[in-house]
Amino acid sequence: MTTESQLRADIVEVGRRMYARGYTASNDGNISARLGDDRLLMTPRSVCKGFMTPDMMCVTDLNGKKLQGDRDPSSEMLMHLEVYRQRPDARAVCHAHPPIATGFAVAGIPLDRAVLAEVLTTLGSIPIAEYATPSTSELPEAVRKYVKAHDGMLLANHGALTLGTDVLSAYYKLETIEHFAKISLVARMLGRENLLARDEVDRLQGLRTSYGIKAPAPICPDPTVLGDLLSGPDQMTCQVVRAPEGDGRSRLVADPIVPVQTLPVARAAAPDGDEEIRLTYRELSALIEDAIRSLR
Ligand SMILES: [Zn+2]
Repeated sequence: MTTESQLRADIVEVGRRMYARGYTASNDGNISARLGDDRLLMTPRSVCKGFMTPDMMCVTDLNGKKLQGDRDPSSEMLMHLEVYRQRPDARAVCHAHPPIATGFAVAGIPLDRAVLAEVLTTLGSIPIAEYATPSTSELPEAVRKYVKAHDGMLLANHGALTLGTDVLSAYYKLETIEHFAKISLVARMLGRENLLARDEVDRLQGLRTSYGIKAPAPICPDPTVLGDLLSGPDQMTCQVVRAPEGDGRSRLVADPIVPVQTLPVARAAAPDGDEEIRLTYRELSALIEDAIRSLR
């Protein structure tokens, strides 16, 4: 078992990395870890997580009562307590505001598309917990809905939350979420996000066992039947991954949606004169909508 001094050092190191990588600004973010069966180590409130020292940590019980430490525990302590309550396997929790992932949380876009194999084998999908006022009891309630089936989630208009079997593993999941968000953003800016076919997702799910990855829940068999991805009850028991049915031959399915943002590029490439140009249905619709708007 990790000693208390090692746990304190790990929390300091993870705080340093979170701040250095820009996942937190000012005094944002918080980290905690189980200290034995009935106590927690928790980062203090109002402290920059990039410059902590091991002696700054608070020791609390599982109800949040401070047992030791000169400072008060994190203002987001209630959210951490809820994670430990719902997930006996969780030994550590990280919360930060990584900017790209938080951008997705602000836009209301969950990171649940089948895009990267390593994300599917580890985190599965990354849902968005509904908005709740930070530091109130609303936040643990929002988190409770997803935490049983997910090791990482976005918090609407707020940030990201991860848990793990130790402090570093919880932190690495935060890195994976931010990295995945960056890649997703770039692909969407480029105008195309090809997806892994459902068969491939099933194959990757099978690999979890051979790699010894302990996922908290299976990937849902049929996510296309879900209407509202933010409130679907299935996300309490399984991980919603949006992956289209493939044709049985290719493992990738071409993104059927060409975002409107690509339109200026298509226009610039169009030749002068009366040569033929081809537009997708979506591009054509966008042009018509533009024209109608300019008429008003
Ligand atoms: Zn926060």
